[in-house]
Amino acid sequence: MATEDAVIATNDDAAQCKRYAVEKGYWNDPYISLMIPKGSARHAPEINRGYFARISSIRLLLEKFIKLTNKKCQVINLGAGYDTTFWRLKDAHLMPQKFVEIDFPVVTAKKCHHIKSKKPLLDKISNDDIMLSKYDLHSANYHIVGANLTELGDIEKKLQESGIDRSIPTVFIAECVLVYIDSNKSGRLIKWISDHFPTAFFINYEQVNMGDKFGQVMMDNLRSRDCYLTGVSACANLQSQMQRFTSNGWADADALEMNKVYNCLPTDELRRIEKIEFMDERELMVQLFSHYCLVWAYKDTLNIGLETIDL
Ligand code: SAM
Repeated sequence: MATEDAVIATNDDAAQCKRYAVEKGYWNDPYISLMIPKGSARHAPEINRGYFARISSIRLLLEKFIKLTNKKCQVINLGAGYDTTFWRLKDAHLMPQKFVEIDFPVVTAKKCHHIKSKKPLLDKISNDDIMLSKYDLHSANYHIVGANLTELGDIEKKLQESGIDRSIPTVFIAECVLVYIDSNKSGRLIKWISDHFPTAFFINYEQVNMGDKFGQVMMDNLRSRDCYLTGVSACANLQSQMQRFTSNGWADADALEMNKVYNCLPTDELRRIEKIEFMDERELMVQLFSHYCLVWAYKDTLNIGLETIDL
């Protein structure tokens, strides 16, 4: 499998893991099963809790941003894959003015196909002015566009086609995506965003601290599938994760290892999910979580209080 195909395949893995955790009851998502068939693999409790912490923490930051801006904002999900956040926000009456997803055209084509053929997905998209091509979807407030995140000219063009207004507060999400992009190129993307969006928030979730033995095993495992975490070396720790934003035009950044993030999640939710599956070796979870982090960064030219958003 070519490297790009292997990166694209990580989307199927993520969606399958999410579907598995949803079916176990970790969180509610009636849409993920419409995106990906049920896999045959069983996933260990620490994997499921990892996905729970990942989606809950990103959700917390995203909803704080949307509420702070009274929904007068835009969401741009980079490398969105089969993410179902659009439908969740719609159901929760938290739709921003625009919600745009970008991924490789091979991935967006499959997502457009699922949407076209599954009524519960299509029904939530404003049907009046929907335009579906092979790779892209444009509607009043939801857009899916196929592009390579390293081709900034294409990204600019696709965002223009989606009607993005750079003067409006905009949140960017990269959920396990930048790590697959060469760090010079992801640095350029991060800088391009800060150059073009005066009031912006960035939520990044990905691998970190991969230099130890456990990290090497994780990398070897991916490498055996031709999948390389090309972005990982320059972002070896939390400090460099923050620096990649502050040295590329962002006002400030914060980064937490997932063990800390987990403990910031609502206690009642943690109590609920910890009852779903018995975990006999919590150390495994601690070890796994120490290799993932959540980073958020902002620049706030409109002074709307973005520095107040945290977990
Ligand atoms: N964000 C989704 C989630 O968390 O469920 C998908 C995560 S998956 C691990 C990584 C995604 O990033 C894939 O859908 C892949 O196609 C996308 N991706 C990686 N590099 C990309 C690039 N250079 N341009 C566009 N998409 C990219």
